[in-house]
Amino acid sequence: MTSAKTVYNFCSGPAMLPETVMKQAQAEFLDYQSKGISIMEMSHRSDEFQAILLSAKARLRELMAIPENYQILLMQGGASLQFSCIPLNLTGSDPALYLDSGYWAKKALTEAQKYGSVEVLSVLEEHPEKRLLDVSVTESEHYSYIHYTPNETIDGLEFHHVPSINKGPLVADMSSCILSRPIEVDRFGLLYAGAQKNIGPAGLAVVIIREDLLSRADKTKLPRLLHYQTVLSEGSMANTPPTFAIYLANLVFGWLQEQGGVLEMERLNKQKSQLLYQALDQSVLFNNAVATDSRSRMNVPFSIDRNLETHFLEQAANHGLLNLVGHRTAGGCRASIYNAMPKEGVEKLAEFIKYFESQYV
Ligand SMILES: *Cc1c(COP(=O)(O)O)cnc(C)c1O
Repeated sequence: MTSAKTVYNFCSGPAMLPETVMKQAQAEFLDYQSKGISIMEMSHRSDEFQAILLSAKARLRELMAIPENYQILLMQGGASLQFSCIPLNLTGSDPALYLDSGYWAKKALTEAQKYGSVEVLSVLEEHPEKRLLDVSVTESEHYSYIHYTPNETIDGLEFHHVPSINKGPLVADMSSCILSRPIEVDRFGLLYAGAQKNIGPAGLAVVIIREDLLSRADKTKLPRLLHYQTVLSEGSMANTPPTFAIYLANLVFGWLQEQGGVLEMERLNKQKSQLLYQALDQSVLFNNAVATDSRSRMNVPFSIDRNLETHFLEQAANHGLLNLVGHRTAGGCRASIYNAMPKEGVEKLAEFIKYFESQYV
């Protein structure tokens, strides 16, 4: 790595990107591969951009060990458009089942209810601590698909195992945890993620879909840009794709490969999150309200006495620890520590938490 960073950005998304990726993008910005123009100004049909698109997909396939019977679609509209896309493409005669784990799961299921029959299973226990429950579906029913949110970005809750329900294809919103650890793709029918947390800039969504699910929906009834088989047939270019976002995603995937892939990310993410939870657990001023077995490795929400909150956030910012304010609906504080957050950033935050506390306790 290069120069010691002076600020660390804990924003939940759009989130920080690896410094080496940003530097490469900067170096290539005005003149891509000696063509005299920026990648931003090139046709999406150019050889240069086609190479980037193919490379991005190949790198992602390698990183996640995506089997051959799964396709990668690069789409627009972020994760939220997938909330609509999924029910439109996957609802059959059976209802869909949504596991309700909180804010993002609710957003997804509210959208799905517009398009078909949806059953909801709450998997969130609120008291005495927030905890994700083990799922057991007893009805013998079959579902069009089963949707869940492996990482609830706002409440800082993460499933550390894949729910074992085999009553329909499993669909997962991995927006805030994709590429943070190895997963077995073949346990899912569809995985998706908005890019702006763990992949790259906003404006891009990644969809990984098992081939048999591609053309469940009638092509003539769906908006063209939302029909999975159409997006695939057109090579993820059913219209002009977000070229710069795809370019940066490709660089991030390359960076991940250099770092040692998702196994190395998992090792680091465990270390980073443990460091932070330990600092919070040892403190009397700060608190994380999630049961230990449901704590997220990506998003760490915490609270502090209301009277001290503004002061804490200001002082943290003065120490180069930025964007620690919690989600507007949840309040409190939150540190998002995705793949691109170096361990030093988390160490600095843990030290600062201890230092801040020492002024009061
Ligand atoms: C951020 C986030 C979303 C929303 O993503 P957009 O790209 O803004 O639509 C959806 N789900 C989860 C889990 C998220 O963290």
